[in-house]
Amino acid sequence: MGNTFEFSSRTKIAFGIDRSLELGKDVKKLSRSNKAVLITDPGIIKAGLADHVIGALEKEDIEIQVFHNVQSDPMAGSIDEAAEIIRSCGAKCVLGLGGGSAMDVAKMAALVAGGERAAMHYALMANPFAPKSICTIMIPTTSGTGAEVTNTVVFSDENKRKVWAWDAEMAPDMAIIDPQLTAALPAQLTAATTFDALVHAIEACTGKRTTPIIEAFSLQAIRLISQNIKKVLHRPDDLEARGKLALAATMAGMAIEQGGTGIAHCIGHALGTLARIHHGKAVTIALMATYMWNAEAAVTMYAEIARALGVKDEGLTEKELALAGASQFSQMVAESGLNLSLQDENLSAADIDCFLEVMESEENAPMRLNNCRLATSADLKQFAADILQTSSKSKDLNQSIL
Ligand SMILES: [Zn+2]
Repeated sequence: MGNTFEFSSRTKIAFGIDRSLELGKDVKKLSRSNKAVLITDPGIIKAGLADHVIGALEKEDIEIQVFHNVQSDPMAGSIDEAAEIIRSCGAKCVLGLGGGSAMDVAKMAALVAGGERAAMHYALMANPFAPKSICTIMIPTTSGTGAEVTNTVVFSDENKRKVWAWDAEMAPDMAIIDPQLTAALPAQLTAATTFDALVHAIEACTGKRTTPIIEAFSLQAIRLISQNIKKVLHRPDDLEARGKLALAATMAGMAIEQGGTGIAHCIGHALGTLARIHHGKAVTIALMATYMWNAEAAVTMYAEIARALGVKDEGLTEKELALAGASQFSQMVAESGLNLSLQDENLSAADIDCFLEVMESEENAPMRLNNCRLATSADLKQFAADILQTSSKSKDLNQSIL
């Protein structure tokens, strides 16, 4: 921990079952207007969640335009289309409804619409955004990315290269956490997104930029996830437990917003570049491969994490406790039934050089360098070999509770 740090959150958080039904009032209060653009994806429309939100807006006479051309791993072109709609209807409020992709498009399009240039003009902060003139409200429908409270977005250029954009003003003005909206999420997606949040929490509090405030958010997020994931997977309509997972994801988002992520996200992004593998699944595979290696280097923090994961500490030394967290994490993953196989992704041991190259790339350096233990090229090669070897067999090893 450094001697000085700052901690701020620009996003107001509103939590509650059916809290999204009050959305119309939030739009009026925040934007002092009755026009808004709703950005979502086709899956959310199909699941009826967009209608739910549109109904809440119409109840307050909000004029609403819907943009739903958002794919997972969104493209810059999708952001430009959304920004054009925002400009042409003169909306002063943009709503993002969905997982990380829909929220990222909403956050970025609201800033892009305030200027005249296309999204790629601002990629990797090559140029500053015009001052923010359009407010943003995020309504997550998964409990994972934490995009509802972060000031970073990820999107792809026309060559499918992943790029980032960030700005203090990218942080949403408001996040509405309504567990009801996550109730219909299928078990595999519930598990994958929840483990993404868990990896965020673990990486933020063990990273080089951690502070006691980040530790507080991270450790509580880890507790809430370890105490509630089984409940939700057994009873998907348990809204109290769903609410705890949703809050954990938001808290873990606040933790990475300040503390960043680490090696599991470096490896996870590399897996996502090699194959279109779900981000939550990718970082879960990556943390399983690196947990022990990390825990050996940050024993005290990993011992705290093990307690938060539910490991009983009687009779264990601090180091034994730290390392016991690894098997607790693996057991949680196995019990969730999350399919970790890479066979369906067409990845094999032959992909090792390409995998290594992406891990060591410039764009993955911030995650690699923030990790509690510095990974050498030899370390990365070993992780890559382990992942490509074990994940091709792991399908049979899962003991699903579902
Ligand atoms: Zn993540």
